[in-house]
Amino acid sequence: MLNLQQLVQETYAKRIEDCNNEELYYVLLSLTQRASDVLATNNQKKKVYYISAEFLIGKLLSNNLINLGLYAEVKDQLAEAGKDLLQIEEVEMEPSLGNGGLGRLAACFLDSIATLGLNGDGVGLNYHFGLFQQLFEDNQQKAVPNPWITPESWLKPSKISYEVPFANFTLTSKLYDIDVPGYKTATKNRLRLFDLGSVDDNIIYDGIEFDKPDIFRNLTLFLYPDDSTREGELLRIFQQYFMVSNAAQLLIDEAVAKGSNLYDLADYAVVQINDTHPSLVIPELLRLLTERGIDFDKAVEIVSSMTAYTNHTILAEALEKWPLDFLNEVVPHLVPIIEELDRRVKETYHNDSVNIIDEQGRVHMAHMDMHYGFSVNGVAALHTDILKSSELKPFYDIYPEKFNNKTNGITFRRWLMHANPRLAKYLDELLGHGYHHDATELEKFLEFKGNADVKAKLESIKKHNKRKLQAHLEATQGVTINPNAIFDIQIKRMHEYKRQQMNVLYVINKYLDIKAGNVPSTPITVFFGGKAAPAYTIAQDIIHLILALSQVIANDPEVSPHLQLVMVENYNVTAASFLIPAADISEQISLASKEASGTGNMKFMLNGALTLGTEDGANVEIHELVGSENIYIFGEDSQTVIDTYANESYVARDFYERPNIKPLIDFIVSDEVRQYGNDERLFRLHNELINKDWFMTLLDLESYIAMKEQVLKDYEDRDAWLDKVIVNIAKAGFFSSDRTIAEYNRDIWKLEAAK
Ligand SMILES: *Cc1c(COP(=O)(O)O)cnc(C)c1O
Repeated sequence: MLNLQQLVQETYAKRIEDCNNEELYYVLLSLTQRASDVLATNNQKKKVYYISAEFLIGKLLSNNLINLGLYAEVKDQLAEAGKDLLQIEEVEMEPSLGNGGLGRLAACFLDSIATLGLNGDGVGLNYHFGLFQQLFEDNQQKAVPNPWITPESWLKPSKISYEVPFANFTLTSKLYDIDVPGYKTATKNRLRLFDLGSVDDNIIYDGIEFDKPDIFRNLTLFLYPDDSTREGELLRIFQQYFMVSNAAQLLIDEAVAKGSNLYDLADYAVVQINDTHPSLVIPELLRLLTERGIDFDKAVEIVSSMTAYTNHTILAEALEKWPLDFLNEVVPHLVPIIEELDRRVKETYHNDSVNIIDEQGRVHMAHMDMHYGFSVNGVAALHTDILKSSELKPFYDIYPEKFNNKTNGITFRRWLMHANPRLAKYLDELLGHGYHHDATELEKFLEFKGNADVKAKLESIKKHNKRKLQAHLEATQGVTINPNAIFDIQIKRMHEYKRQQMNVLYVINKYLDIKAGNVPSTPITVFFGGKAAPAYTIAQDIIHLILALSQVIANDPEVSPHLQLVMVENYNVTAASFLIPAADISEQISLASKEASGTGNMKFMLNGALTLGTEDGANVEIHELVGSENIYIFGEDSQTVIDTYANESYVARDFYERPNIKPLIDFIVSDEVRQYGNDERLFRLHNELINKDWFMTLLDLESYIAMKEQVLKDYEDRDAWLDKVIVNIAKAGFFSSDRTIAEYNRDIWKLEAAK
């Protein structure tokens, strides 16, 4: 039995009541670390190495307390002393080791791998300033470094270190570990983060600008440094090779320590290549194995039986192609290996579309993964179908047996138990604890459809979560929101394909509608949150429009009681955990075919928000699970969109000329908005939407507006709405990352299950 009062007494010689939140945080940190220190490290023979440029793990205190079985006791004993765990957590800095869904997926996967008792570590880099921290200044995004590493962070230095050879020098790495305890398991796994001792933040001169060629001092400063210049691209190759060379050396060492003779390496290790960033692990493993005396053909056979690739996107910009010149400058020792791999492909297939090195001398990383790995997976059913039938069709024709689908998932420990403790507790009461280990047991909640008491309780939990968000935004951003409003939320990276701009046009439509005298029955608050890549101008322009428009609305007394627009600063896991449980409407409005899966959509569903979305990514599977009456689907389907691209038939201006659309677009450059805005940004965005609009915002705008009006109308029938909420929560079990990881293991990794 935990006695927190006694622990605090021993540490500070005073009572919990007399401690501040910092003091309590450090006690809980060391309590948690001790509890995870005593767990044995999983040591089963075969192990998965999940290599990823990103791990968006979020704050760890509560998550680890939950997994270690300490959460309820800690929370209760703090509450008895008048302390709130939520406020103590504020002390922790969120590690900024990821950008978006791909990185968050990697974090959910580590949690599930550990929870299922499987042996698997994450391997990545220890970026000192992570992605960047987003601030708003003059209604624009400002990017500044995000210093998350403190002496009290969860990183544990190890004695492991490797030499990583580059063209003109060799760097020595240093490994840090973060423990990953599973949910109530006897063993733990780890997140292994490699760093470089010589990194020096003094070379940052302005915002997140720094001296790009100074690899010795900049290598692990930032995730995704700006690659709009040649030097930026070279730095990314330096980072990628540093990551995979360390990972490859680590996995070989660990296998040898367990008795591998390297010919049987695939019995000890399987590598999951998360998107193309870790693809150089293939030639690097070949280099290391041949250096250790294995002949090249044999090495190719070994490596091909132990590497698996996950594709996360069909956006061409994200499928990396490095010029051979660049690779020659950074890792010349890999180039002959890559050339030999390419030669073999060309000799075998005589099909230019599957070459590794194209006519312009660029190396297609995904092509190398597909030829020389044994598995290729997409991340939702629709996405995998599109890979097979169009994007990667030439590869599917050659290797149909390699292709498989693994629909993404989320860990319920973080996205239900931690983010929404009231709902979790209520579900425990109604359904028991079975769903903690088998999420499909949530389906038992369907029995409560039509139950007035349950619906009243759900309503009160939602209101509580809205108040929690209200307090959070008041404290962090000084923004006041109305907890009686409908919360309509779109939070995700800023990108044209995700079409935040379409949602903004809806807000403009609503604004003009209210000005015309049509006041909504319930006030509406529309939330956005998301970072824009610093070199992505249009995404920055969209943020600017949201911020300027929110001022137009806030300063208009005719409209502001009925409509509010909030752009949440520095969207991250912490912000998500406040926003998602408070949501009524989940905006998942990407252009069909473009969102590979989405995982935000799953988090919202689990927390009782209804999806307003296109038939895209995992929305398709949500739709199938809940049925058409419990989701709001609009817009063109993916095949129509793919055909529209193929025959180049989309003309934004034709839509712009429609009488319902023109006033909305033109409002972007109205005097009302311009008084709070920057003309260059507003006119550029206006022009973009009329003359280019590559992601077809206007194609679906009218059906989007009509469907959102339907959602708002349906919201007024609370009884019917809450029945839909129950169905969504009940059907969310499929999206547990425990299910996803069980499938990866069954089809790809084939690790031993826990004893
Ligand atoms: C879940 C999550 C994402 C991914 O959201 P999508 O809507 O799937 O793009 C991105 N960032 C954070 C912080 C998340 O928690």
